[in-house]
Amino acid sequence: MNIVLFGMPGSGKGTQANFIKIKYNLTHISTGDVFRENMKNNTELGKLAKSYIDSGKLVPDKLTIKLLEKRIEENTNSKGFIFDGFPRTIEQGIHLDDFLLKKNLCIDLTISLEVDEQILIDRILKRGVDSGRADDQDRFKIKKRFDEYNKKTSILKKFYEDQNKFFSINGQDSVNQVKDRLIKLIDKHKND
Ligand code: AMP
Repeated sequence: MNIVLFGMPGSGKGTQANFIKIKYNLTHISTGDVFRENMKNNTELGKLAKSYIDSGKLVPDKLTIKLLEKRIEENTNSKGFIFDGFPRTIEQGIHLDDFLLKKNLCIDLTISLEVDEQILIDRILKRGVDSGRADDQDRFKIKKRFDEYNKKTSILKKFYEDQNKFFSINGQDSVNQVKDRLIKLIDKHKND
């Protein structure tokens, strides 16, 4: 089973993906985490991605797709993937479908976590204090990330709706309530 989690920055994708990967024995791929790891270790990829991430922009598709493919290739024995933060553009979505198809795989389900903007801003600023993430500490950068999402990522809703694979859930309640909603949706899909 291959699942994509959508949602604006701060919507809880990472937190929920951590539960889902354990419950369904999936490999969690977070492109944001991979970029941050590379930035921390000052790798070439980290250096290339840093200026984009620090200013709240998306990293160019070519670089992101290469990284994603590498992560999938490293986990070919996996029972499935939970993609968190990928795809974020139509190009990435098309590429992911093509790449999986070559391996006789496909995306089974995409789920968007819906949260009001003001709640997101409060959550992100709190995370910035706790984690020290530069892109979580500045309202201007946060706004830029929302703009990127609205301009480039939200159109993927139609892309997956056309494949009957798009679902939304309310991501505003407690972590456990959102987790229960997600599990209910995934189980229903598994049994259909
Ligand atoms: P995240 O932790 O998922 O919010 O990602 C943090 C930052 O990493 C984003 O604001 C982007 O700059 C970059 N990033 C993560 N995933 C992608 C992606 N699929 N495409 C382009 N940039 C990405």
